[in-house]
Amino acid sequence: MPHDFDQSRRYIRQTIFAPIGKSGQDQIGAAKIAVVGCGALGSAIADQLARAGVGSLRLIDRDFVEIHNLQRQSLYTEADVRNRMPKALAAYERLSLVNSTIEIEPVVDDLNSGNIARLLDGADLIIDGTDNFETRYLINDFAVANNRPWIYGGVIGSYGMTMTIRPGITACIRCVFPEAPPPGVAPTCDTAGVIGPIVQLVASYEVSEALKYLVGAIDKLNTGLLAIDVWQLTSDRVPTGGPNPTCPCCGLREFTYLNAPADDRETVLCGQDSVQVRLANPVEIDLGQLAKRLSGAGEVVQSKFLLRFTDAATDRELTVFPDGRAIVRGTTDGDEAKRLYATYVGN
Ligand SMILES: [Zn+2]
Repeated sequence: MPHDFDQSRRYIRQTIFAPIGKSGQDQIGAAKIAVVGCGALGSAIADQLARAGVGSLRLIDRDFVEIHNLQRQSLYTEADVRNRMPKALAAYERLSLVNSTIEIEPVVDDLNSGNIARLLDGADLIIDGTDNFETRYLINDFAVANNRPWIYGGVIGSYGMTMTIRPGITACIRCVFPEAPPPGVAPTCDTAGVIGPIVQLVASYEVSEALKYLVGAIDKLNTGLLAIDVWQLTSDRVPTGGPNPTCPCCGLREFTYLNAPADDRETVLCGQDSVQVRLANPVEIDLGQLAKRLSGAGEVVQSKFLLRFTDAATDRELTVFPDGRAIVRGTTDGDEAKRLYATYVGN
């Protein structure tokens, strides 16, 4: 369909901003960025990148839209909740309405060691919109092993952090946080909540870093760990220096997360009273047949993209995707989740 707009005017406010200019806009337009996670941070990041005209965006998310997301996940609507939309697809649909001149590729999947090379293939830059350290360490391993820059961001409560990682030049995330905090020790969005403004702020820092990187404003990049609290009105930037020679990732180049086998496994999801169950080898599940099979055991609702089943006996809710991945709600016990999966989905 031909556009009714004069596209040459689309980025005019950005191109008259001298540090970007027309040539910077061309570089932004030629760039390929992968956004990992399309929750709160990922929504805000993808929205800004699409509007800024990043030529190619890959949006990766494993989850679907729920009512408690709307408070801060700015791409989604009540219709997405009603339609049980996977976030990556809802984001794709929304951003296609915002900017039809760029390429947007939604990926409904969980980033793991088995698929990271494929899912991040070709990305000039990777941006973190995830909510857990395991995935961040995996991204960090991939980025260092493949010499690809990435931007870390995280939020909790009214507090957020961000760091820009250029392998071989700056510290990596494991130089700064060598180990993930043990489960249950660090506050999570589950226990501490999170407010919208800190999400938007950290996302804005991450996108500003991306734009600087893309236009070659390397001397303007963040070379520290920036921490901000919008409630306390505090902000700190701790210089992180260069790569640490004893860092397990960028110093010793032991890519523990990247080399971990992608076995069948379960992951407790942040802030959701949920466990994800995935198979090492994705299978193709006929959701229609599964719906028929499960209809006697509880309530089944099916959409084009997923099936939701509520087990009448335990009240646990299973959301099953066509590749066999499932999210079990109502428990944080991995064994229970796997048991329910085996009972109802099979395998
Ligand atoms: Zn390091």
